[in-house]
Amino acid sequence: MKQYLLILPAIAALLLASCTGSEVIVDKNLPAGNIVFERMVNDTVYVHQELRGSKKAWFYWAFRVTGAQGKKLTFVFTKSFALCERGPVVSLDKGKTYGYLAEEGATKFQFTYTFPADAREVWFYECHPYTPEMWEAFLKTQDKSLFETGVLCKSREGRDVPYFRMTPRHAAPRLSVVVSCRHHCSEAPAEYVVEGLTAAFLEDSELGEWLREHVQLNVVPFVDMDGAVKGDQGKWRLPHDHNRDYTDFLYPETAALASLIAETQPDIFLDIHNPKLYKGDNFIYTPFIENPAPLEAVFSQLVEKYQEGDLNYQTSDDLHFGEGWNVPNNYVDGLNVVTWVRQNIQDIKVSRTFEIPFAYANGALVYPDKMRKFGHGMARALRAVVEEVPKTPIEP
Ligand SMILES: [Zn+2]
Repeated sequence: MKQYLLILPAIAALLLASCTGSEVIVDKNLPAGNIVFERMVNDTVYVHQELRGSKKAWFYWAFRVTGAQGKKLTFVFTKSFALCERGPVVSLDKGKTYGYLAEEGATKFQFTYTFPADAREVWFYECHPYTPEMWEAFLKTQDKSLFETGVLCKSREGRDVPYFRMTPRHAAPRLSVVVSCRHHCSEAPAEYVVEGLTAAFLEDSELGEWLREHVQLNVVPFVDMDGAVKGDQGKWRLPHDHNRDYTDFLYPETAALASLIAETQPDIFLDIHNPKLYKGDNFIYTPFIENPAPLEAVFSQLVEKYQEGDLNYQTSDDLHFGEGWNVPNNYVDGLNVVTWVRQNIQDIKVSRTFEIPFAYANGALVYPDKMRKFGHGMARALRAVVEEVPKTPIEP
């Protein structure tokens, strides 16, 4: 009986939709889809995001709308806020290109969209998506003789979790770097920074050649692989999320990343994230751990100095331990990866999170290309660690 009661509202919603003569369908049949369609009343569609085992409300969602060509519809999120100040990103070509919806009319709970007359299928995302297929597509355009890829481990659901590696061929590396992303799987835009950093190592340029000759780079782009494929929130995943798993190692990916880091003994470890969605945190920053590694302050200066992409990173925006949300209470679920690295890799020079805002970075609108450029600038900062740091005074 209970089951029937649960199904009834869905049937009522379908009937209502058909009674209004609409053939509008809202579903999650798109990469990393996540939505619950509740009902459609006239031109208003009521939806909410699926939390899928997160213990707190979070804001990731992605849905597809078909049959709405020529209509003007308002989408209302009924459970918790789900939109940044620029509204959703929208694709009219099944994910080939995305644009922000204009600011007009979007709030953190709803947006209105006028479907072009020929738009039979439109994809909407909370943020710019980045799927494992996109990473594969990026690598396909590169010179395969320059790097190695393979399977770091199998995810809980049996997916291959990829890694990427470049090692200098002619001499020992002067710097070893490990980069990871998607400890929180829904933080997809952060991956564009990782792609831009990786691309710097592969490019046909003086910088690319220098990086290949002197720096070992290991990248683990999808730490929560299953969540990234399926469109989970990831953040606050029960019993704790991937970035609080460095005490228990419940997830195969975190254990495998920790082994890779222990094996390679990097000088620098970077873990790229996106922060809160709506207002506040509208700048790139690092939330420092309690006992930061020795070169953190210098590395911040170098990233600021060599940044590209006009995202206005300022070292003064970094969040010191004990400030804002970055307090001990935030870490009671277990160690995060940067703390684990700091505690376990003896000679680590930098072990840090970067938070890349979803919509605005100190006033600049955030786009994938700007994030790629920021990652590219970060690669230039890595070079500067080798070439400039002996000349740079190290802050105590
Ligand atoms: Zn995160």
